Amino acid sequence: MTKPIIYWIRRDLRIQNNPALKFAIESNQPVIPVFIKDEFVDKLGAAPKWRLSLGLGYLAKKFKKYGIDIIFKSGSAETVLTELINETEANKVVWGRTYLPPVNNRDAKIKSLLKEKGLFVKSFPGHLLFEPWTVSPKSSEFFKVYTPFWKVTRMKNPVGSETKVSTILGVEQQPKSEKLEDWHLEDGMSRGSSIVRRFVRLGEEAARERLDYFISNNVMNYSVNRDIPSLDGTSGLSENLSLGEISPIECWNAGIQAMQAGHDAAEIFLKELVWREFAYHLAHHTPHILNSNWRQEWNSFPWNTNDRDEKVIRWQQGRTGIPFVDAAMRELYVTGRMHNRGRMIVASFLTKHLMTHWKIGLKWFENCLIDWDPASNAMGWQWSAGSGPDATPYFRVFNPNTQLEKFDGKYEYRDRWLAEFRGKNSKNALSFFDAIPKSWKLSEQLEYPEPIVDLSEGRIKALEAYKNREF
Ligand SMILES: Cc1cc2nc3c(=O)[nH]c(=O)nc-3n(C[C@H](O)[C@H](O)[C@H](O)COP(=O)(O)OP(=O)(O)OC[C@H]3O[C@@H](n4cnc5c(N)ncnc54)[C@H](O)[C@@H]3O)c2cc1C
Repeated sequence: MTKPIIYWIRRDLRIQNNPALKFAIESNQPVIPVFIKDEFVDKLGAAPKWRLSLGLGYLAKKFKKYGIDIIFKSGSAETVLTELINETEANKVVWGRTYLPPVNNRDAKIKSLLKEKGLFVKSFPGHLLFEPWTVSPKSSEFFKVYTPFWKVTRMKNPVGSETKVSTILGVEQQPKSEKLEDWHLEDGMSRGSSIVRRFVRLGEEAARERLDYFISNNVMNYSVNRDIPSLDGTSGLSENLSLGEISPIECWNAGIQAMQAGHDAAEIFLKELVWREFAYHLAHHTPHILNSNWRQEWNSFPWNTNDRDEKVIRWQQGRTGIPFVDAAMRELYVTGRMHNRGRMIVASFLTKHLMTHWKIGLKWFENCLIDWDPASNAMGWQWSAGSGPDATPYFRVFNPNTQLEKFDGKYEYRDRWLAEFRGKNSKNALSFFDAIPKSWKLSEQLEYPEPIVDLSEGRIKALEAYKNREF
């Protein structure tokens, strides 16, 4: 009897264009796909955990069409894999790399342990276009600034290629499996899940449709429209890229083809995909970017670190009295996503006008985003706060009201999300009150609040603290 091969599912919830799965299929051995609810899954925030469970449920149905069951197991990856190998007599284990330092360390340990036991073990690329250690400047080990990183990557070919799967060989005797629904990964979402679900685009077909739609309809105007939050001007693919429901190579190739068809703005789309690469490049070379100031001198900055501070709570609840900030924070709560301009504005407001530590914002996003990506989130927050590499200088403080006039001059975005303005009849704006916990005691009947800070005073205070800093 041919021994099976274990394909360990990670952040690659797709069947097509999946190098690790392709390898497993081409080994001509029966494939056992396993998903492990390990400590990294347990630690996920509410929205990413729930979105993961949706993605896994969808993927399980897809595998079923090929006659294959995903095996769901919980526990430490090392124990689960060892037990599964003993149970099935598998002689090979493969997986896709996630490129996150804490996960890498654990994976390296497992790899050597299984190899010692005589198994064939191999990890594959697929989550990124360029593996972080394959892009480096001439004079130093890694890039700290985006533009030269982009220039080098633009000239490189991404790792891997697009591949299609038609059949998968399965095992005759199914190993024991837990039930995905018994894990209750949705629990942290409470009543928000039915609202956010309306905005989820689940699975690889939906992701591909999203890409095709973007390339056919929006890429030509992307350079301008990507900054207008009321428009559907961006790809929306971050949700799918974060869980690997689409391969970044597929997105990259679609962008290259659009350029070849004469759409110059597609190059900006490639540039954005490379920002994601840059985030992983930084996380690989400087893992501390994920949870502490990239520039250590910021450790002495007088941030507010109290996440129960009244003003921080008002920021989280979209009740700061600053319309652009509140609209974006409510968009986040209702859709699980936020327009990039909104992310920059709410992050600047929290870290500068409220002088609050970026880690408090990072944590909130980590709990609320369905496109949560540890590397991009950390880079985005440190960029906004000024503590990161290639960051916006601390003294560049966005004025959310000027930003509103510039990017939402007709107030369409504001009114879509704030019921207190012209959004009284906006379904999206009203949904916010159904999504939030009842304990917040908010309703559309409440008056829109006065601003919690005077924008110019807040700016002056932040700049003074910056001027008096100890570094
Ligand atoms: C404070 C802050 C936090 C952020 N947190 C996240 C996060 O948790 N997850 C996440 O995917 N992105 C994050 N971003 C980056 C960016 O806002 C989103 O990637 C973008 O809004 C996703 O929308 P889209 O898919 O329509 O992007 P598009 O404009 O269509 O861009 C295509 C793809 O390029 C990548 N990309 C675009 N902009 C960036 C960027 N600035 N940094 C990294 N990758 C980028 C994304 O994968 C995106 O899907 C954050 C930005 C900031 C300022």
